[in-house]
Amino acid sequence: MRRMRRAKIVATLGPASSDPATIAKLFQAGADVFRINMSHTTHERMREFVAAIRDVEERYGRPIGVLVDLQGPKLRIGTFAGDAVMLAKGAIFALDHDPSPGDERRVHLPHPEVLSALAPGDTLLLDDGRIRLTAIETSPSRVVTRVDVGGRLSNRKGVSLPDTTVPFSALTAKDRSDLEAALNAGADWIALSFIQRAEDIAEAKKITRGRAAVMAKIEKPQALAHVTDILDMADAIMVARGDLGVELPLEKVPGIQKQLTRAARKSGKPVVVATQMLESMIANPVPTRAEVSDVATAIYEGADAVMLSAESASGQFPVEAVATMNRIAEEVEGDPIYRSIIQASRAEPEATGADAIAAAARQIAETLELAAVVCWTSSGATGLRVARERPKPPIVAISPNMSTGRKLSLAWGVHCVVAQDARDQDDMVDRACRIAFKDAFVQPGQRIIVVAGVPFGTPGATNMVRIAYVSNQAAAED
Ligand code: PGA
Ligand code: MN
Repeated sequence: MRRMRRAKIVATLGPASSDPATIAKLFQAGADVFRINMSHTTHERMREFVAAIRDVEERYGRPIGVLVDLQGPKLRIGTFAGDAVMLAKGAIFALDHDPSPGDERRVHLPHPEVLSALAPGDTLLLDDGRIRLTAIETSPSRVVTRVDVGGRLSNRKGVSLPDTTVPFSALTAKDRSDLEAALNAGADWIALSFIQRAEDIAEAKKITRGRAAVMAKIEKPQALAHVTDILDMADAIMVARGDLGVELPLEKVPGIQKQLTRAARKSGKPVVVATQMLESMIANPVPTRAEVSDVATAIYEGADAVMLSAESASGQFPVEAVATMNRIAEEVEGDPIYRSIIQASRAEPEATGADAIAAAARQIAETLELAAVVCWTSSGATGLRVARERPKPPIVAISPNMSTGRKLSLAWGVHCVVAQDARDQDDMVDRACRIAFKDAFVQPGQRIIVVAGVPFGTPGATNMVRIAYVSNQAAAED
């Protein structure tokens, strides 16, 4: 089974997509990676999701990625005596360390590190940005604010601090326990929410120790300020437009999406564009024109993946939402303008053997109109460097490691096949031809290009390109 598009689709699982039959339908419709959101999922349910995904994987013989998304340090206020209050514009309102129920004048903020980090002039956004406060007086026990945008404020609403760097770890106690459970369940990707700097990722990597790849969700202005370091440390990033649009003016989000997509493509790390892509499909079987245009924009930008959240997790049309994304991606990628945009936005190769070989392979494959770029990749690193080139022909990555296949399910254009190690260089080329034929990437009489490191399995040793002719005999041998 092969996809007819290069960009990948991430579908979030939830109540609307929890039974194995629906998960199979989402895969058939085009989902390449399934996301499990730990803000709304118990450990037991997460394990059930993973088991159902692995069943589908076995049934179709295709590696599928499991992305477990940790909740992160989501800040919340305490409760009110009457469950809610009305805050009037211009009023004075305090957040403090007193756990007793709040009123119109104050409420508990159960995060002492936040009270200590706030400075006069800092903005506090409550309830997804619906309420806006400015700090006028701060102390370790209490922050006094002025209400700039008022409204109804109820128990335990979220707090965002766009101006304040809070010195907490990106992993809460809940995140640590969720992370342990996710690693034990065999997650391939772990997404970290509300990270502020590269050290937050380093902390998670100390726990994952290579058992899963780590995706940094960019959803805070503080993270934007450290994108270069974050991209160095993370294995992928997500343009988390939901919270970005709370912490920053909404009109800044499209430009940030372009900037992040370009930076990720330059570094050769996958980038996922997320949130509200087909939002109206939560309740409708067809999207709005604006949503179709939004998905198309991410594809034209060369994003590795586009993501569905509530559309597939709790909406009424999860399968239709995936099928819609699939159709948009196929259509865009067939547009001649798409190729010229992708080409114009490609980054120069870095001065490494892997990049030089990947760039040469793309050039040769495009010049000779070869049927596929087939690469042998043990860890997935070579596969990612080939994907970074965004070649016109399909990429087939062959790896002896199932975990590599699952990880690469997120990467642009990569069709990964898990197969035994090759014996030698000739075996590598023969097997590349047979695998590309078997998965319908090449016909007898056509040629492919094979990329590998010889001896195979030595990291950083990508050093071979070979043009190979696929004979009738190679095709027959399987
Ligand atoms: P969330 O992250 O869905 O976990 O909030 C994505 C986003 O903020 O866009
Ligand atoms: Mn978020």
